[in-house]
Amino acid sequence: MQFIDLQSQYKIIEAKISSSLQDICENARFILGREVSEIEEKLAAYTGAEYAISCASGTDALQIALMALNLEVGDEVITTPFTFFATGEVIALLGLKPVFVDISEDSYNIDPTLIEAKITDKTKAIIPVSLYGQCADMNAINAIAEKYELTVIEDAAQSFGAEYKGKKSCNLSTMATASFFPSKPLGCYGDGGMVFTDNEKLSQDIKIIRNHGQEKRYCHSKIGLNSRLDTMQAAVLLAKMDIFPDEVQKRAQIGARYTKLLQNLVKTPDIQDNQTHVYAQYTIEVERDRDGFCERMKEKNIPTAVHYPRPLHLQPVFADLGFKEGDFPIAEKVSKHVLSLPMHPYLDEKTQDEIVAGVKECL
Ligand SMILES: *Cc1c(COP(=O)(O)O)cnc(C)c1O
Repeated sequence: MQFIDLQSQYKIIEAKISSSLQDICENARFILGREVSEIEEKLAAYTGAEYAISCASGTDALQIALMALNLEVGDEVITTPFTFFATGEVIALLGLKPVFVDISEDSYNIDPTLIEAKITDKTKAIIPVSLYGQCADMNAINAIAEKYELTVIEDAAQSFGAEYKGKKSCNLSTMATASFFPSKPLGCYGDGGMVFTDNEKLSQDIKIIRNHGQEKRYCHSKIGLNSRLDTMQAAVLLAKMDIFPDEVQKRAQIGARYTKLLQNLVKTPDIQDNQTHVYAQYTIEVERDRDGFCERMKEKNIPTAVHYPRPLHLQPVFADLGFKEGDFPIAEKVSKHVLSLPMHPYLDEKTQDEIVAGVKECL
């Protein structure tokens, strides 16, 4: 049994991928070929964002979005401690200070009611993460940002395809970033990422930053990065976009079926009003002995994963920020209880029943 089955998906899109990769090789358009602008246009249209600028990874997308804000060393960026490391990493990498705000226990996303208390004169941006595939409470976050003139960047690495009050993830704030790491809801066959915005000036700066700060050929107006999306990865994404809306529906059905079968046994995902979930992870909580539970599942050949066992404020590299155990009690508590079950659009009912039976036996 696989945690995420990319082979079944490949069989569906194999012919299209093979022919487009062959075409790219024959025409040698490996860097910024036409497939790159095609996927940018396609994802802008899909999300409703005005501009979509691709880059080399979801981590780079976050870094480029922050670089486009021209912040100063020591400026503060508010984010959640309960996320993949990259969210905090890029903040620190740019000499900025990550300021953590605890999460809501129901959504696992940053708790907007705790944000204002953390705002100082140095606060410049908020990076809410739409964790596991469900958007953070963006309206509430945007309202705070507006009041204090902060920029909001949605880290949508896990939520591409999700909807929030009738709008798509990646089109809910000044900027948003997606990751196309293979296991994300929309993944390529390597690394890839995208920044979304409605702001024309930001879109131009992002485009320059992702290509060595190059404004015109050999004219560099900024310090940037070498962070372009490979043409081959763009072609993979184009093939996958043909089936993506159908996959999002399948994910919703499979997630709902898991919840129906598991809700009286374990804590299942809590879908917020007027939102959809793309289940980048289908994450449950067990009351006790999570690690033992995962071991017992493994003995039954049912793969599980823990996203994430250690919140960012307790990571060794952030020790000098002076955090201690107990600073973000909800994030710390859920990090000890959460685990994710196999989840992908091609999970059949028989396999899902086997997983559910395994959960019952291993509790
Ligand atoms: C995967 C992920 C990233 C980083 O994306 P990469 O494409 O792997 O660099 C950032 N934030 C979150 C929440 C993620 O899940």
